[in-house]
Amino acid sequence: MAKERGLISPSDFAQLQKYMEYSTKKVSDVLKLFEDGEMAEYLQGDAIGYEGFQQFLKIYLEVDNVPDHLSQALFQSFQTGYYIEDTVREDVVCLSDVSCYFSLLEGGRPEDKLEFTFKLYDTDRNGILDSSEVDRIIIQMMRMAEYLDWDVSELRPILQEMMKAIDYDGSGSVSLAEWLRAGATTVPLLVLLGLEMTLKDNGQHMWRPKRFPRPVYCNLCESSIGLGKQGLSCNLCKYIVHDQCAMKALPCEVSTYAKSRKDIGVQSHVWVRGGCESGRCDRCQKKIRIYHSLVGLHCVWCHLEIHDDCLPAMGHECDCGLLRDHILPPSSIYPSVLASGQERKTSKISQKTMDDLSLSTSEALRIDPVSNTHPLLVFVNPKSGGKQGERLRFFRDVPDYRILVCGGDGTVGWILESIDKANLPFVPPVAVLPLGTGNDLARCLRWGGGYEGQNLGKILKDLETSKVVHMDRWSVEVIPQQTEEKSDPVPFQIINNYFSIGVDASIAHRFHIMREKYPEKFNSRMKNKLWYFEFATSESIFSTCKKLEESLTVEICGKPLDLSNQSLEGIAVLNIPSTHGGSNLWGDTKRPHGDIHGINQALGATAKVITDPDILKTCVPDLSDKRLEVVGLEGAIEIGQIYTKLKNAGHRLAKCSEITFHTTKTLPMQIDGEPWMQTPCTIKITHRNQMPMLVGPPPRSSNFFGFLC
Ligand SMILES: [Zn+2]
Ligand SMILES: [Zn+2]
Ligand SMILES: [Zn+2]
Ligand SMILES: [Zn+2]
Repeated sequence: MAKERGLISPSDFAQLQKYMEYSTKKVSDVLKLFEDGEMAEYLQGDAIGYEGFQQFLKIYLEVDNVPDHLSQALFQSFQTGYYIEDTVREDVVCLSDVSCYFSLLEGGRPEDKLEFTFKLYDTDRNGILDSSEVDRIIIQMMRMAEYLDWDVSELRPILQEMMKAIDYDGSGSVSLAEWLRAGATTVPLLVLLGLEMTLKDNGQHMWRPKRFPRPVYCNLCESSIGLGKQGLSCNLCKYIVHDQCAMKALPCEVSTYAKSRKDIGVQSHVWVRGGCESGRCDRCQKKIRIYHSLVGLHCVWCHLEIHDDCLPAMGHECDCGLLRDHILPPSSIYPSVLASGQERKTSKISQKTMDDLSLSTSEALRIDPVSNTHPLLVFVNPKSGGKQGERLRFFRDVPDYRILVCGGDGTVGWILESIDKANLPFVPPVAVLPLGTGNDLARCLRWGGGYEGQNLGKILKDLETSKVVHMDRWSVEVIPQQTEEKSDPVPFQIINNYFSIGVDASIAHRFHIMREKYPEKFNSRMKNKLWYFEFATSESIFSTCKKLEESLTVEICGKPLDLSNQSLEGIAVLNIPSTHGGSNLWGDTKRPHGDIHGINQALGATAKVITDPDILKTCVPDLSDKRLEVVGLEGAIEIGQIYTKLKNAGHRLAKCSEITFHTTKTLPMQIDGEPWMQTPCTIKITHRNQMPMLVGPPPRSSNFFGFLC
């Protein structure tokens, strides 16, 4: 049994993965050398000794000196007792096991991996896995489970039962067809064989440097961290240490999922010493004196703080505290193999296809949230939208979850696109915590123009009571005319916020270029506003946009829009009533008293297309009415005045549900603040879909944009 053997430590494992990342070698390259090349001398049957194993690592990882402890730990983890001519040999490891392990870590097509693993475990090469070969597979799975800290004792019978179930025809052995079918339909074989390493809780604290306003004590050495001196505090468990003590700290107590059946369903308190910031015991209400040493306990989930002496009087069950609505505690996530037998059989896994096999995290773990909660999936400044799909798929069967995107409008756009692509059965509502500048969308949804250190607990509480609005999203199709000239690439295919041609876009374009060139001049929101003003008033750059109506025609819902009486330098198409960090190009609408919807209907303001200036005057922007607001802009000065709030708005041209532009010269354009130069073309904007977005609480003072109140 593998239990007594040295397992690879997390740090060794991290090291191993680093090596693999940088190495260009594949397992198959190394196997060739062993099978008929220069390494053949190390083979003893299908086994290799320690020396051969070291050679394997050296070639495979392309590292001359693999640390001894790493190669020893690895070697030991493969030692299971190997038979050579009827004698058990403990000093060798099975080359198939070794290669299987590394090739699984390498990645590749799931069906290839399944077939490869079959061949590796079919040690006598007779085309079937007999019972001793199946036993070896179970040992490998147990080793992986043990590495992941799962409760191995309860797993063994489950695995045995599973492997029996794979033998569909009951022949007593597993054929390749049965193996592939099992891997594709019922059993997460690749996961159990160690492919999915993200299942490992790494036990690492999430340190952040912190200065403490009151005396605190190091969780490790228990001596004081001087007043005003800097220490490290873990974001997850509030463990506090001296900088120099961090290396020796015990693993972080905060785990992400249940690893044993007994931990599934009911969350227990997870007590960590110290961290009693309130100074009062939540059980006896008496003071917790924290002046002289590290005292008291706090629970990392519910944040209760208690005396050590009060611990026996506390129940085990943790309700996750004030923010429980957002929390998916570890007791709600567990390895799907630990689900009860019946549940396993009726699992969602049975419907998956080969393509889904690569989504291994989602099949290896199952989520069963606490009832009446809305787990919050948070994306903090993700670097791109594409990679977030895996996370969304992991949550796909969770009812009633919410998403919080911390970032700018661009980031929100990526996530909305990922949600679109993930094709989820339930589309979660999205809230925004705006970071950085130019957060028009967040502003319209009442989450503010930029996070400035407000209390996160309060924001999360607001989120609980927030309402859903179904925000329109628009497809934009750019069909260029055949010309010699080259266009910049079109930045997006979807409009969440706004689109514009001409003077407004050219400001954004120039602004964009200046910001890349002189980032130091753009380091605050206020300065950004001043720069806009400067660009807007330096008239020469806008000559390209003069008399825009001569190089552009507009069709709204199939009918030409008459621009003959206008002298425009820009046209903006708005989905939301905020552009460039808070300017409202549509302007305020005096709201008639009474039943607004009824009045609008009587006036014709709810029609699909509106161009009548008198009706337009009464129209209030609405990001969920499947219509766009079209605004004409007269010139640089006007724009500058709108940005700096000296003037209220542009000229309302139309409200419509479809718009097409034809341009006859190269013009600046922008989508959601991303500018580019576009050669003559046709641009079609059509309704794409709606996304549920969460709207923050109404402002305490007067109405903001009116449309959501
Ligand atoms: Zn921690
Ligand atoms: Zn210390
Ligand atoms: Zn608790
Ligand atoms: Zn107490």
